[in-house]
Amino acid sequence: MKIAVFSTKKYDTLYLQPALEANGHQVHFLQTRLDDETLALADGFTAICIFVNDSLTARGIEYLSKRGLKYVLLRCAGFNNVDLDAAEKFGVKVARVPAYSPYSVAEFAVGLMLMLNRNLHKAFNRVRAGNFSLEGLTGFDMRNRRIGIIGTGKIGLLTGKICRGFGSEVVCYDPYPNPEGAKEYGMSYVDLDSLIATCDIISLHCPLLPSTHHMINTETLSKMKDGVMLINTSRGGLIDTVALIKALKSGKVGQVGMDVYENESNMYFEDSSDSIMLDDVFSRLLTFHNVCITGHQAFLTREALENIAQETASNLEAFING
Ligand code: NAD
Repeated sequence: MKIAVFSTKKYDTLYLQPALEANGHQVHFLQTRLDDETLALADGFTAICIFVNDSLTARGIEYLSKRGLKYVLLRCAGFNNVDLDAAEKFGVKVARVPAYSPYSVAEFAVGLMLMLNRNLHKAFNRVRAGNFSLEGLTGFDMRNRRIGIIGTGKIGLLTGKICRGFGSEVVCYDPYPNPEGAKEYGMSYVDLDSLIATCDIISLHCPLLPSTHHMINTETLSKMKDGVMLINTSRGGLIDTVALIKALKSGKVGQVGMDVYENESNMYFEDSSDSIMLDDVFSRLLTFHNVCITGHQAFLTREALENIAQETASNLEAFING
């Protein structure tokens, strides 16, 4: 089968390509992201393989399904970038990799917490500039932080578990609680309002849905503790970025660690600065020294890449074998 892989990443040629080719498929790398402008590149392919910042709209699905597309292989957990209703309508099957390595993302979320909690980002820059001053670098012991986990699925539970290892108090919220999992990891459920109002660090681990879009907004931000730290490794649309910028300006929000951001799929991050397109709101975020942003990297470990490759290849075989 001819498979079009939308990717510019070398690691996909190292992990994904051999996994797909091992089953006898022809893999063609299209060195761009998928959106309505680049659809035609996938003309005639039976399967396409895409990632988080690709966008497959209803128009795209209709167009490609009329040109032979049968399978969409998402090599990520989230699926908000594919119009699933259109896929169903046009008979295109969509698979994702729901749990390639929750540890990768949970460890990354905690890494952001530790970095911000101890001002490591500021310290690195200072020492590089020959400045060994400790002024303003006083942090907190993690054991004295109350941490709120929003969304207790695979990643949220592990994040809470790691935080418990530091002795932190961990509370959580999920409309579909997992009492056994939370108990096992020493976390307790509270209602969302209470979590928002009482935690020093709030970490988001729920999917982006119509019901969770902008769940962190002017109103919820106003109820948070002064100087709260926000961590988002889930999806950018969970946070109203304009409201967040206002809360950063007022000092309501003390620190932000984010691996994902609104309009991420419209921003095309590559190694060359020539191909970086930033929107105004995102550029404004970058001006805050208490905001640490990474480029959707939380998943990126060798273990996760291996699992993504193997799961994507087996999803395709499952489709082929009915
Ligand atoms: P999961 O499906 O295992 O868990 C999600 C949890 O969110 C579920 O328990 C669900 O009940 C809960 N939830 C749903 N609506 C909610 C709401 N309104 N409030 C609170 N909780 C709610 O998912 P997961 O694998 O743990 O992934 C969590 C998030 O991490 C997803 O958004 C996923 O896209 C993202 N993710 C990011 C990266 C990255 O590299 N940054 C990698 C993988 C996953």
